[in-house]
Amino acid sequence: MEHLQVSVAQRIVLESVATLGVESVKLEQSLGRVLAESICANRDLPPYDVSAMDGFAVRSADVMNAPVTLEIIEDIKAGDMPTKIVQAGQCSRIMTGAPLPQGADAVIRVEDTQVESHTSVQIVKAVKCGNDVRSQGEGMKTGEVVLLAGTEITPGVIGILATVKAAHFAVYRRPRVAILSTGNELEGMDDPVDPNKIPDSNTYALMAQIQALGIAPVLLGIARDDPIELEQYLRRGLEFDVLLVSGGTSVGVHDYVRPTIEKLGVQMKFWRVAMKPGHPLAFGTTNKTAVFGLPGNPVSSMVCVEEFVAPALRQMMGNSRLHRRTVEASLAHDIKHQIGRTEFVRAQLTRNAEGYVASTTGTQSSGVLLSMAKADGLLIIPAESKGLAAGEQATVQLLDGAVFQDEAGFRE
Ligand code: AMP
Ligand code: MG
Repeated sequence: MEHLQVSVAQRIVLESVATLGVESVKLEQSLGRVLAESICANRDLPPYDVSAMDGFAVRSADVMNAPVTLEIIEDIKAGDMPTKIVQAGQCSRIMTGAPLPQGADAVIRVEDTQVESHTSVQIVKAVKCGNDVRSQGEGMKTGEVVLLAGTEITPGVIGILATVKAAHFAVYRRPRVAILSTGNELEGMDDPVDPNKIPDSNTYALMAQIQALGIAPVLLGIARDDPIELEQYLRRGLEFDVLLVSGGTSVGVHDYVRPTIEKLGVQMKFWRVAMKPGHPLAFGTTNKTAVFGLPGNPVSSMVCVEEFVAPALRQMMGNSRLHRRTVEASLAHDIKHQIGRTEFVRAQLTRNAEGYVASTTGTQSSGVLLSMAKADGLLIIPAESKGLAAGEQATVQLLDGAVFQDEAGFRE
């Protein structure tokens, strides 16, 4: 099988996964979930025209020729209803959020007045009709759709849900994710340190990438490079919605992952992607599980999770935004590139007067995890690039922060 371009492989993954149904969740427990229903406003906010400032409610026509002295007829606090109509030559003292009294059409902030007595105030500034007034329904109007299904629940969204008194609502079910490491050389977290072994970091790095999506994965442990043992672990993993297996997906004689998952009924969609790091990436599905055979190299497996697994999980969680934000940065130094595969270079970002500047985080060997730990983002070198020179612009996909549908981390 030929090596698929990253964009093609990603499309295949996204075409193979769907949402898993909905459940009701309480507002207090909904941060990070994705709305499965659209939410409408249940009232106008503000419910009437209110003052945006502490000051005086006036008739704008009265203050056209400021300075002018007006009679104060009433004090209106937030929560009060005005009882008097403001007539020519009059005003009411008003607090932020209090309803504008009849007759008044503007608010003058305290800073633009000089209080002369308990009953009169000098207005020193002319203002137009509507000045410092928040009009009825400016925040939301009854019946208006304020949140669309597919919206990720952020703190701001929680505020809107609380505003419309949505104490519970429908969200998409989270996928159940299992993580399995494979390799005879691996040393588990609880095993004694053996200088001849390789510590299993993938279990935990991948765990954290999944946790960052709001999912608590199940850690299946380490399977040896033995077809029988591997089969037992993989059977357990195939009970989940998503199974991540790292290691053993290459073409080595002891790389049993692909033949074993195929034996267990997984239909392979691809097992080679034209990318660096990460090319021995395998993907397949059963009727209930999406299986990612990730490369064993610690950086490669993390990059594959970022580019393929995370967008798939977001889609399964109903999120309408699938990809991390990208920024354009100018390169601090030359970067060589071999034509034909998309390269993800671990990069650090700084800022100068013109914008972001990207430099690599040191050796780009896919086994050196420190280069990933130091990275702010993945600098994307398109497959057809002949290499990049210092000062050239490049796209960097950030490794944290917001997620945007329209900004895929790579270009076709
Ligand atoms: P493989 O894909 O099985 O050929 O493994 C490629 C490289 O990744 C080898 O050097 C492995 O030792 C290393 N590796 C595989 N699995 C892990 C893991 N869970 N944690 C850290 N390194 C790993
Ligand atoms: Mg291996």
